[in-house]
Formats: sequence, C-alpha cells, structure tokens
Amino acid sequence: MQAEIITIGDEILIGQILDTNSKWIAEELNKIGISVYQITSVQDDRQHILKAVKEAQSNANIVIITGGLGPTKDDITKLTLAEYFNDTLVLNEEIVAHIEQLFAKINYPFTEVNRNQALVPSKCIPLKNEFGTAPGMWFSENNKVVVSLPGVPYEMKGLMLQSVLPKLQATYKLPFILHKTIITYGMGESMLAEKIEDWETHLPPFVKLAYLPSFGTVRLRLSANGTTLEMLSIAISSEMGKLTKLIPDIIVGFEENETIESVIGQLLTDKKQTLAVAESCTGGNIAKIITTIPGASKYFVGGIVAYNKRIKIEELQVDKKIIAENSIVSAQVAEAMAKGIQQKYHTDYAIATTGNAGPTADETDKTVGTVFIAIATPTTIFSEEFFFGKPREKVIARASNKALELLRKEILKN
Ligand code: ATP
Ligand code: MG
Repeated sequence: MQAEIITIGDEILIGQILDTNSKWIAEELNKIGISVYQITSVQDDRQHILKAVKEAQSNANIVIITGGLGPTKDDITKLTLAEYFNDTLVLNEEIVAHIEQLFAKINYPFTEVNRNQALVPSKCIPLKNEFGTAPGMWFSENNKVVVSLPGVPYEMKGLMLQSVLPKLQATYKLPFILHKTIITYGMGESMLAEKIEDWETHLPPFVKLAYLPSFGTVRLRLSANGTTLEMLSIAISSEMGKLTKLIPDIIVGFEENETIESVIGQLLTDKKQTLAVAESCTGGNIAKIITTIPGASKYFVGGIVAYNKRIKIEELQVDKKIIAENSIVSAQVAEAMAKGIQQKYHTDYAIATTGNAGPTADETDKTVGTVFIAIATPTTIFSEEFFFGKPREKVIARASNKALELLRKEILKN
C-alpha cells in the first residue's frame, strides 16, 4: 500500500520552517506497512493544491495533507478540497460545541471566524481535534482516501495517532515492515560497504539495506517487508547476527534511535562513573550532546568552554610553558586540559578538545580543520590528532562525534 504526503504552507516554501510533519508522518506510515511514494510541499495557493492532490491521487491510494486549515484568509485548504470533491461546506454542530467548549475553558470570546472552523465539506468524515479548533477531514471514494490535517505538529500528531492510523489499518489489509538499525562509529561509508559487500549481495530479496552516514557515524538500517511478522523478525535477527560478526569492533548499538550519547550514558550509569568536559573548538557542543540524554546528571558533572588561552591557564591549570612550547592547538595542551578538568571536577573520565574550526587560521599555526582530542581515564591520559576539513559546522560535529567514540572505547576497556 502506498501513500503520498502533501504539506501546504508558504512558510515551508520560503524556508521559514522545516517540513518536519512529512518526516514524522512517513515514519508512522512505514511502521504500519504503508510506504510513501512521494512527498510534496506546496504554497497556500488554490491551483497548486488542486494540482498536487490530483497528482498524488494518481500515484497512491492514500493521500495525507497537512496545513492551511486555520481560520484565517490565507488558510484555503478546506475550501480547495471542497472544490476538488465537488462538495459544499456544511455546519457541523458537534464541532461548534467542541470549539465553544475549548474557548470557554481558556475564557476566550467565540467569534464568527471561529464558527467558520466548524464548517466542513458534506462528503467528509470530520476527525475531532482534541488539541485545537480545526478538525481533520477524512474523504473516502472508491477505496481511495484523502486526509486533511492541521499544520501545527502536535495537533497533526494527535489526530494521526488517535484517528488516522487506526482508520487506515481498519480500511486496508496492510503488510508488515520491520526495521532494525545498527549504529557504527569510526569507519567511513565506502570502506564499510566494501567490508560487508558479500553479505549485502546475499541478502534475501525482501530485506533491504540502507546506509545512513552522518559526521563520522554510519547507521546501517535493515528493512524487511512481508505478510508475516514472525518470518520477518527471524530474517532480520539472522542477518543482523551475520553482520555483527563482520564488523564487531565498530558497532556501538542496535536499537532504533539509539545514539552514541545514550550508549555512553548507559555505560557510565551502570559503572557508576562520571564525566567532565573541557572544550575549546567544540564550544560546548559535546556537553550539549551529552545532556540531551535524560538522566545525564547521574554521570555528567559539568564542563568548561575554555575558548580563550587565559581560561585554559586559569581554569584548567594548563601550564603557560606547554602552550608556548607546543602551540595552543597541540596534543600537549589537549591532554593538559583533560587532566585539568578531571582533577578540578573529580571525575573518572574527561574529554578535552582544542583545534581550529576555521574558516581562518586565527592566531594558531595549525591548518583549519586540525583538532586534538584528549581523553582522561581513571588510569591514563592520551590524545589523538585529527583533520576534519571544512566547513566549521562539520569540524565541530565530527570532532564531537569522534570524542564520544574515543570515550566509549575507553569506558569499555576499563
Ligand atoms: P492554524 O489553525 O494554526 O493556522 P493550520 O492548519 O492553518 O493551523 P498552518 O497555518 O499551515 O496550519 O501552520 C501552522 C503552524 O504549524 C506553522 O506556523 C508552523 O509552525 C507549523 N507547521 C505547519 N506546517 C508544518 C510542517 N509541514 N512541518 C512542521 N511544522 C509545520
Ligand atoms: Mg494557519
């Protein structure tokens, strides 16, 4: 079964907002065995909307639309869909009551504009929106479905989970799609591909492999598609088993959405150990990544963004002589920073970074993209030099990921 997603809104086309609705909807549809054939974003424009819906319906049985359902003049989705289905708007008393209730709760005057929100095309089944005023709309003709949802992400999600996904499952006999993802660190996509080439070419036809690279990490996602869940699950585990044997040392984790920071969090929590960071060129990015994990306070003590030389000296006790003799971007300074923060914050582990993220070489004598990462453990301190190229964002992202990768390896050793 296939679907198309259409997101409506000038805001998307002028780059003011990112179309995260499509990503979320595609993910949810895939989970219930519906694959997405095409995603389209169009302006709040009658002609564009009509054209997009027509095309989507010619490609797929299911069309999910978001946006443009608000009460204001620029929101024209409802009228346009009524036109598309040769329909007229009728007042739905249930929706009037719902909106009146919502407004009474927040003590807000109910206006004629709001009353308009209770007008829906007569041919649709209105879907009650618990989180807002605009109802969703379910149109169904000749085994084909068109669904229109509000653009506001939490309203759209509420309607999808409460109404749309269950209704789709009730309407169509859907196959199962099972995904499993391995997260790897420390090997580039092409080298990885070469290493597992033989295994990949012998995958059963209903199992597909995807490479998802991002700044030093590659996620490998296996997807199996079929009618019996048990058979898919056996096939996926068996293939995962073979893959694990091929690349045991670079696999960080398995679960969907597992990240290196969550793996490190689990390891440190289990071992009751702690971590601190001293960041120069990564500017706090490593601390930010670590603290995205709920419960990070159990193991993450804190950090210092030691950007300026003076802070490295005063806050991290980096010896002036080390800087003078080796340069501010050097292995010696990185290690002294790691040691400094480890001692200051009394932690088991510490990460330190010093480098040049560019675009200009600044006061350092090192090429743009050069980064030294140091790791202090309960027993040792070491550092490595890396070259992460350009641009600045990439240097920061790759240095942060590399630091986490080095840390994970050390925690596993101890
Ligand atoms: P409202 O009643 O709030 O006007 P609406 O259905 O008319 O709802 P839009 O006006 O299209 O929705 O969008 C409302 C807000 O929802 C946007 O300002 C934006 O913040 C968010 N939004 C809309 N479409 C998307 C999308 N595709 N992805 C992510 N966010 C979106
Ligand atoms: Mg709107």
